Amino acid sequence: MTKRYGAAVAVDELSFQVRPGQVTGFLGPNGAGKSTTMRVIMGLCRPTSGYGLIDGRPYPELERPLRQVGAFLEAKAVHPGRSVYHHLAGLAKSNRIPESRVNETLALVGLQTVARKRAAGLSLGMAQRLGLAAALLGNPPVLLLDEPVNGLDPEGILWIRGLIRRLADEGRTILVSSHLMSEMALTASHLIVIGRGRLLADTTIDDFIARNSRSFVRIRTPEQERVRDVLTAAGVEARRGPDGAIEVVGASLEQVGELIGRHHVTVHEVSMRSASLEEAFMQLTADSVEYRDDAGPAFPAGRMG
Ligand code: ADP
Repeated sequence: MTKRYGAAVAVDELSFQVRPGQVTGFLGPNGAGKSTTMRVIMGLCRPTSGYGLIDGRPYPELERPLRQVGAFLEAKAVHPGRSVYHHLAGLAKSNRIPESRVNETLALVGLQTVARKRAAGLSLGMAQRLGLAAALLGNPPVLLLDEPVNGLDPEGILWIRGLIRRLADEGRTILVSSHLMSEMALTASHLIVIGRGRLLADTTIDDFIARNSRSFVRIRTPEQERVRDVLTAAGVEARRGPDGAIEVVGASLEQVGELIGRHHVTVHEVSMRSASLEEAFMQLTADSVEYRDDAGPAFPAGRMG
């Protein structure tokens, strides 16, 4: 699908499918087009071209939308005077969901104790839980969660990670967005990475880690130039690290150590390092280079795409 706002392209010929039974992370820096994509799938904004399908059908064609897909997008407006319970009960009624689901859902998100409180007076963390409760009310097999950990305290973040994984283990199709690689590494087993509205990667988290956590040898030395000359003469690629240390890619610790020993240069440190996943992700999205999982498996049709 493509979505333009005037001349600006928010989503650029993006195409992917999401499979059931696992958490699919939707990763991209702020402004990459994640929310827009989710809003198109949920029928909240019209794509310029293309479409988003849930279980093979566009959102407006779903017969019982709340039972087929749950979405946690931006904080929804709640009726200021209504209690948490009545907010959900109203939603249940208008969607012909049995009222018994309200208490079940409140228990699921840990809001039983505030069921009688005014929805508008909730703390941010509690309001997030209420938003999730609304998404889960219809017990839907497909869930779209846009940055669900944003604004939560550490305990809330742990709780939501556990909940998301449990929901996936139950066989649901879950697309959860984040602008943090570290968050995705903890919850997702599959990754869709986008940058400037374009698809950058569609791959398993393990494959993404294997491809992107390139290790390098770090050298700290008072003889920068000599070390560089020695490395260059040996045909080894060296670059300058963020703190001024020399970073060598494509050579082992042993090879670098032997080179340095043979040329009697002084070094203060020679060590093996791994670029963090967060760095790999930032590099990938900053460059916005084409990164396609050409060696990866062909994915069978998902329930959402
Ligand atoms: P993300 O969710 O990844 O942070 P968004 O989907 O919110 O990204 O935004 C994608 C791009 O589209 C951004 O450049 C944003 O400024 C732009 N955008 C989003 N919504 C609108 C809108 N209603 N009008 C104009 N531009 C928008």
